Amino acid sequence: GIGIQAESAVRVASVPKLQAPHAGAHKYSRGLVAVIAGRMPGAAALAASAAGHGGAGYVRLLGSATDRLPHAIVRQRFSADALADPRIGAVLVGPGLGRDEVANDRLEAALTCGRALVIDGDALHMLGEEPARVPTILTPHAGEFAHLFGDLGGSKIERTQGAARRSNAVVVFKGADTVIAAPDGRAAVHFRAPSWLATAGTGDVLAGIIAAQLAVGADMFTAAVNGVWLHAESARLAGSSFIADDLVAHVPAALGACL
Ligand code: AMP
Ligand code: MG
Repeated sequence: GIGIQAESAVRVASVPKLQAPHAGAHKYSRGLVAVIAGRMPGAAALAASAAGHGGAGYVRLLGSATDRLPHAIVRQRFSADALADPRIGAVLVGPGLGRDEVANDRLEAALTCGRALVIDGDALHMLGEEPARVPTILTPHAGEFAHLFGDLGGSKIERTQGAARRSNAVVVFKGADTVIAAPDGRAAVHFRAPSWLATAGTGDVLAGIIAAQLAVGADMFTAAVNGVWLHAESARLAGSSFIADDLVAHVPAALGACL
């Protein structure tokens, strides 16, 4: 079971309080997200599109060959220099990255660029044991969690809290019930998201939404909790048998309900 009875300081993810851009906002002040692409550019494109619909003012997709993108997503050649732009508020690495040498180089560049990170998918398989040195959110599903942390024992909440402490990162342990935990012990749960989310690409969409919330200025834990809520609400609005692209299209309405 999820084990909520055993825990005290655990909150249930509820409707976030979000804000529209202030009157003097410009695209960079609203938050710049850099998404690192890899072998399967569709996954990174989905994440990038989700970041744009999730509130970021500017999204750059680095190192992708795909043309199948919203025109608003700016494509750029991948380089460590591209990650050095001080305007970048969050870097997302992992969706569709692959696990080859190129992927490893790109992950290494992300880990050393000094920006806040959202790490998902393939990148979780290549991550070492060292605790995070920059603000980091990890978004594993059950398989990725087991690969990263082994069998920690205890409830899902306790395992997520243990993982967050060990990795010094906010951990979003996904599934039908999602648990979010911070290294300081804070935890939140989101119950019973629509089971239609069990379809390809929805995890990439979640990672993009969380990266956007981070880039617009939420603290790490809040960005993760709000991202999980917005993702599930987008799914509810998308109805039945949607694909991940449809989910992205419903993110603005989910976000709009929180203003
Ligand atoms: P991934 O496994 O990376 O593709 O991510 C899948 C996304 O869908 C995560 O946000 C999960 O929490 C969510 N999800 C997967 N299966 C279910 C389910 N049966 N019910 C609700 N949400 C789910
Ligand atoms: Mg995934």
